[in-house]
Amino acid sequence: MLLAAPWPRRLVLEPRHRMRIAVIATYTHPTRLRLKEPSIMQSSVPELIAGLCPPHVEVEIFNEKERDIPMDRHWDLVFFSYLHSFYEHTKVLSTLFRQRGMTTVAGGRHASYFPDDAQQYFDAVITGEPEANVPALIEDFEKGQLQPRYQRPPLGPAAIRPYRYDLIDFTHNKLRLPGIEASRGCPFSCNFCVLTGNERYRYRPVAHVIDEIQQHMHWNPNFMGLMDDAFVFLDNNLGGSPKYLRELCEALIPLKKTWGCALTFNVLKDESLVKLMAKAGCRYVYTGLESLNPDSIKAMNKGQNKLSEVDAVIRRVFSAGILLSFGLIVGSDGDTNAYLEKLPEYLSDLQYFSVTFLGIVCPYPETPFFRELQAENRLLPGTLSRDYDGYTLCHRPKSLDTSEVVEHFHRLCAQLGSLPNIARHYWSKLTMSDMPRYKQTILFSGPEIVSIRNPVKNTARRYIAGQDALEYWDTQQMAQLGLQPQRLT
Ligand code: SF4
Repeated sequence: MLLAAPWPRRLVLEPRHRMRIAVIATYTHPTRLRLKEPSIMQSSVPELIAGLCPPHVEVEIFNEKERDIPMDRHWDLVFFSYLHSFYEHTKVLSTLFRQRGMTTVAGGRHASYFPDDAQQYFDAVITGEPEANVPALIEDFEKGQLQPRYQRPPLGPAAIRPYRYDLIDFTHNKLRLPGIEASRGCPFSCNFCVLTGNERYRYRPVAHVIDEIQQHMHWNPNFMGLMDDAFVFLDNNLGGSPKYLRELCEALIPLKKTWGCALTFNVLKDESLVKLMAKAGCRYVYTGLESLNPDSIKAMNKGQNKLSEVDAVIRRVFSAGILLSFGLIVGSDGDTNAYLEKLPEYLSDLQYFSVTFLGIVCPYPETPFFRELQAENRLLPGTLSRDYDGYTLCHRPKSLDTSEVVEHFHRLCAQLGSLPNIARHYWSKLTMSDMPRYKQTILFSGPEIVSIRNPVKNTARRYIAGQDALEYWDTQQMAQLGLQPQRLT
């Protein structure tokens, strides 16, 4: 079925043929088993790219985290969006589609950083932002003049177009909420972050954001209206400019919507801003706390996280009617056995039980952390792009053996994602606020907390770079297609 007979390649479209485009966000599960992970927040790149396509084309969008890609369909043009660790899988899909005469395009952070590598497997590569590049590429394709590389300069945040929310199919993922961008980039410089040194902070006019919510957004119709009028901001840091965030919140108040976002810890220290966010409908905030160990925070250059204020921030945010969700990572240079063993105890002392992301610090190739490890010869040998998933140890930490990091990671996933922990979360936080939809948000967060156990569900996996095979299906296809994995060390 997958290696069907070659299809005639149609670079110049026949008259009256309505051009068909697919936009695919690819996905492979951290266990390296063929699993899906439907959840509240999903990649919205398909809706973003679809919003940049001209009205005369037919567009379908797919999110592989929610469902398999139908391999029997034909599109004229296929846009792929992928993270570093999905690259091998995306190469396979692109190669199979090209064999059948489809034209494929790679875009996103990995493609922008490794355009020469990607050029081998895709007909065109977009480096940088999509707003100028996607329409130009489609126009060239229709004229039969597709270029191998599209690298037009960014048009600025005011050029961000409304997403195609009408294409989201909520039947494949009943939990999903529509997402919107208000800003891009981040003003901070954490050493492990892909934004550091690559993107400055910029934001859309508030009126554009409000108009998109009011005029374009489609709501999740599942659960008898419980998720109606609720959405998420997809920004890496919605609080990159507290002044902008204030303006945005003031404009959101009359809309009476419910929303969640990710932002940095420093914003949560401002009590009046937290209250304003709650009044504007914010019920969920994710912040990358990363660690409760000052040495680890220092090693990550994450000075905006003031650990002495964590206790007060937790109480302030929940009391305002907002669920505060932390992300933690292990394996950084400040981590020790003593700290990682005591981490659940520290969290319990804080009466904090809603960690919704737990990963292993990842030295993405475009980051200062990668360059530091490379200079110190601490990257593990044989790492593949697949290993850069945030759940696989790719380097030698300063104070821990590699196997120790993985042991702590497994244990913490089990402990922090345990059912008793969720019970403690409900017990300690359910009555902290009477704000509308607060209790509902707390109850919905239980499955998210337990989901931190999902990445370690494959007991055969080592979680150390270079030591785990790629997914079975990808391995088979790569052998048949003669594809080699991208080696980063
Ligand atoms: S605060 Fe978050 S988004 Fe900003 S640089 Fe650090 S990790 Fe990246």
